[in-house]
Amino acid sequence: MTFDEYAAHAARTSNAESDIVNGALGLAGEAGEVVELIKKHRYHGRDLDLDALKKEIGDVLWYLAEIATQAGLSLDDCAAHNLAKLRERHPVRFDPSYHDARGVLAGYEWDAFGSLWAPGMDRDDGEHIACASVHSGQWWVYSAPSSGTVIANGISDDPKRAAESALRAYLEAPQ
Ligand SMILES: [Mg+2]
Repeated sequence: MTFDEYAAHAARTSNAESDIVNGALGLAGEAGEVVELIKKHRYHGRDLDLDALKKEIGDVLWYLAEIATQAGLSLDDCAAHNLAKLRERHPVRFDPSYHDARGVLAGYEWDAFGSLWAPGMDRDDGEHIACASVHSGQWWVYSAPSSGTVIANGISDDPKRAAESALRAYLEAPQ
């Protein structure tokens, strides 16, 4: 089932007099019910009631669908937009360094492994590979000669400098 298919089913049980404000108020109420379950688990010594949590998460989803429908938005589009936004901020996993690097890396490109490639950098010419990647907030610059041994050329807390260093290492590596 897609989100839009869910929203279409949910809309069948919407009150004919409902509007976006009703959706917003309902969302706040149901979100509070989710919070209450977790509060009781965390502070009142109760087991986390997964059946109840499932129902309340469903109620939250229902009101999100109601708001999207009332606004004329596709819930599929909302979900896809959210994933795209998160992928831009954190290409592989959550790491504040990715977010901090936004805006200074125009023209640079991330790969699926979280490495940053400078413009014009040939990722694999068959002999050398160079890239900069982030680990625990530090940017490591690598080049890999044809032997396959990865060499850390330097560490920097500046992602752009790390990427430029990687490019330099790549260009200056013996061919
Ligand atoms: Mg509820």
